[in-house]
Amino acid sequence: MSKKVLITGGAGFLGSHLCELMLSEGHEVICLDNFYTGSKDNILHLINNPKFEILRHDVTFPLYIEVDEIYNMACPASPVQYQKDPVQTVKTSVHGAINLLGLAKRTGAKILQASTSEVYGDPDITPQPESYWGNVNPIGNRSCYDEGKRCAETLFMAYHTQHQTRVKIARIFNTYGPRMKIDDGRVVSNLIVQALKNQPLTLYGDGSQTRSFCFVDDLITGLRSLMNNTPDDFCGPVNLGNSHEISIMTLAKIIIELTNSKSDIVFKNLPSDDPKQRCPDITLARNMFDFNPTTDIITGIENTIRYFEPLLKSAKNDS
Ligand code: NAD
Ligand code: UDP
Ligand code: UDP
Repeated sequence: MSKKVLITGGAGFLGSHLCELMLSEGHEVICLDNFYTGSKDNILHLINNPKFEILRHDVTFPLYIEVDEIYNMACPASPVQYQKDPVQTVKTSVHGAINLLGLAKRTGAKILQASTSEVYGDPDITPQPESYWGNVNPIGNRSCYDEGKRCAETLFMAYHTQHQTRVKIARIFNTYGPRMKIDDGRVVSNLIVQALKNQPLTLYGDGSQTRSFCFVDDLITGLRSLMNNTPDDFCGPVNLGNSHEISIMTLAKIIIELTNSKSDIVFKNLPSDDPKQRCPDITLARNMFDFNPTTDIITGIENTIRYFEPLLKSAKNDS
């Protein structure tokens, strides 16, 4: 059955892939975005689809429309981007959650929150299961994002408990792939762009910190399954990500090799509160909806390099 699906942050990296998937399944899509980090380029190929609609709106303001499902993806996700305007980052997570939960409550829509592995902070256990409460600095430079997302989770659970709103909370771990912005600031895009330009790859700290990188297609499938293939009273939170953990140094070496780059590696200061390790325990997602990310890091990085290569060439020709 065709549904009317609202995707906030729909012009961003993950949101645009989600718009595409929902349209391919025959749903009507309202792509809402304030274009803070999102781009029209990510959704240009969808605008002639009669079932696709773009709404320029900031989720910190109320929104009165009629919908069946809501994916709340709106929020800058790169530390560089979310630290530019920390107050707006908190408002986006907290006021945004209140407005969209109010909308879900009034319309009876099911609503999914794009939460994050950052709710675990700098974890002292690994891998991180959903039952772990986290180790988060409430006043550090990442707290506008971490605590905003934690408060949003609280709001989602409160609306479920108090108003029986159907909510789903996805704790997304580092995801990468085509449509990340060239100047997004996250490690995968930074290192690929630097390698393709034969510029030094910037490693923060000694590169021994770890992350577990999930390719975008695997993550999007997981979000859809959480929304559609779990009982109405199942809220999560659920970890979504790839459990293959690598150091940032290993990632840099893979990228240099796959781009045939002449780049060296340079070391920069490690930002404060940068988590030392991060790896999802995805047992719950596997048991609930057969979540099984299949794209290995080499295939995913190759795919992402193929996305950035022509973009950088056209940027060079324009300058
Ligand atoms: P992104 O920056 O590419 O996308 C975020 C989108 O939200 C952008 O289009 C931006 O313009 C829009 N936006 C920001 N503030 C808004 C506001 N106030 N009102 C309306 N739109 C607004 O980032 P992404 O990687 O696509 O992340 C999408 C969501 O997934 C975010 O909520 C993020 O916290 C979450 N997430 C992503 C990752 C990841 O690795 N990609 C990991 C954990 C969580
Ligand atoms: N809201 C919205 N769209 C709706 C319904 C509500 O944007 O369709 C916003 C509205 O700004 C409200 C918030 O969501 O303040 C929370 O709504 P709720 O009904 O939970 O609370 P209340 O209206 O009682 O503050
Ligand atoms: N990082 C890095 N070089 C860069 C960008 C990031 O070494 O150019 C590091 C960063 O310090 C962190 C890891 O890579 O340890 C992942 O950073 P990212 O911003 O992608 O996401 P995070 O998981 O920290 O939110």
